[in-house]
Amino acid sequence: MNRPLLRPGSARQPAFPHQVTPAAAPAAMPARRRLFALALLLPVLLATLLLAACGRDRATADATGESAPRRFWQRSAEPVVTPVVDPLERYQVALKADSLAVLESMDRAPRYTLDVTLDVISRTLTGSGEVWVPNNSREPWNQVLFRLYPNLDYYGGDLTVHNVTLDGLPANFTYQDENTSLRILLPRPLLPDDGVTVRLTWKLLWPSWVDASAVYALFGKSQQMTSLPLFYPSLAVFDEGASVGSGRWWTTLGTVRGDAAYNYASLFTVKATLPSEQVPVTSGSLVLTNTVSPTQTQYTWVTGPSREFLLHMSPVFASASEEAYGTRVTSYWLPEDEVGGRAALRYAVASLRAFSDLYGDYPFRDMRVSVAPLGFRGMEYPQAMLLGVDLYNRQRPNLEVLVAHEMAHQWWYQMVHNDPVAAPWLDEAIAEYSVRLYMEELSGADRADLFEYQRWELPNEQLRQRGTDTVVSAPVDSFINGTQYETVVYGKGALFFAALRKELGDSQFRRFLQSYVNSHRWGIVADEDFLAALHIVGKPELVQLYREMVGDRALQVSAVPTGN
Ligand SMILES: [Zn+2]
Repeated sequence: MNRPLLRPGSARQPAFPHQVTPAAAPAAMPARRRLFALALLLPVLLATLLLAACGRDRATADATGESAPRRFWQRSAEPVVTPVVDPLERYQVALKADSLAVLESMDRAPRYTLDVTLDVISRTLTGSGEVWVPNNSREPWNQVLFRLYPNLDYYGGDLTVHNVTLDGLPANFTYQDENTSLRILLPRPLLPDDGVTVRLTWKLLWPSWVDASAVYALFGKSQQMTSLPLFYPSLAVFDEGASVGSGRWWTTLGTVRGDAAYNYASLFTVKATLPSEQVPVTSGSLVLTNTVSPTQTQYTWVTGPSREFLLHMSPVFASASEEAYGTRVTSYWLPEDEVGGRAALRYAVASLRAFSDLYGDYPFRDMRVSVAPLGFRGMEYPQAMLLGVDLYNRQRPNLEVLVAHEMAHQWWYQMVHNDPVAAPWLDEAIAEYSVRLYMEELSGADRADLFEYQRWELPNEQLRQRGTDTVVSAPVDSFINGTQYETVVYGKGALFFAALRKELGDSQFRRFLQSYVNSHRWGIVADEDFLAALHIVGKPELVQLYREMVGDRALQVSAVPTGN
């Protein structure tokens, strides 16, 4: 099947292959919804506050999948005066006013409503939550799997689930995959296009690491900062096979060398009760703050489409904000690193603008940049990036490059997602090449050329001389060490995009990437999807280039566009 090339701002592909595209709705629908939303712009914050204040009842209504009473107004010949009750309305506050259409493809996205309380003395999180789980695959499910990422040995946490119900009825569950997955048995199959509400309670203990700036701690406490990505049971991805019945739940353990999280674009409402002195850095947008005791503050955030929800915090963070194309960008730093913290803010604003121009609009109201116990490295999260302590002082010359790389992940990871263990190149190579595009924009081609030579060409030349060059598209653990992994997946991967750009020319290269984002925004891609995008361009030499540099894994699967 051919994929139509979509221009920015044209009809979006559904987030899930099985989803009925909302394009079937009347053409006037998006404009009407936007108008309606704009009219409600000021009251919407107040409405969201009220909804959040009575969150439980609202959450139950959402989670049961009750649909808005559209039949009512659609049948009426009278002008619509009754407010439309939209289960996705609560998430609008996370999006910029001109980006509310993003939610139109989210009616079949998983929805999380989480409520957690943190005790930083005992390093304990007590949580409860509901997840509306849609079956968007082609086959019935006899079970549903959740990932318990904190139990990965390189996260070092301890997440225990106490209770699970399915649509209100008690459910049986077992742990598997070294306690990093929770298998919930369904009393009857969950059919395609159906959904189930899973309610869970859990307890999480987080680790404490040594207080040294070189520490690389994705999860837990170090240097007065606590990072808690994926502090909740996270719905696993169901990878559909070539034929009905051959799909499997993704429960890969990964390694500390690469990223671990693989998730559907989901919608989150998160309520967290924290010690009042903690400054939280999260995904989403804050909609409510309550002082619940002399020492505790309760926050509520909502997100738009989001791969996960990050909670990161410190009692000593200072911060500053700036605006970029309607998004509030906030930088958080340790008190002694104000110069670095303000520089990170400048780089974040500049790179968010540059990538919005290149790849398409960034739809969210908030984006956050924060120091974290990650040494000289960085890590991407939805609407947030965490950057190692060393980047704010000893490694300051690398701060701009890291900020640009992590910002590019807001397109390549958050919008267009991929299996981070089996095919890490799909987001890392283009996030890395994006740094060069950012540099050209900000500093000119000469600096970008030098960067390309030093950061990618030279290390890859050394690999070739040592006889350890290999193809870009391979699983994280297939590389012989971290150096080969980073040099090939990031460096050679970036050089593949440089070669692709040379073949296509600047403007076609840009259109190619924009079409690729538009075709897969909020979805998940595999090598075959990238190859299919190359086929659409209609130049056989591009496929040859792909084969030589990226590899022939996808070519072995299919030599023609799959079109999913
Ligand atoms: Zn990256």
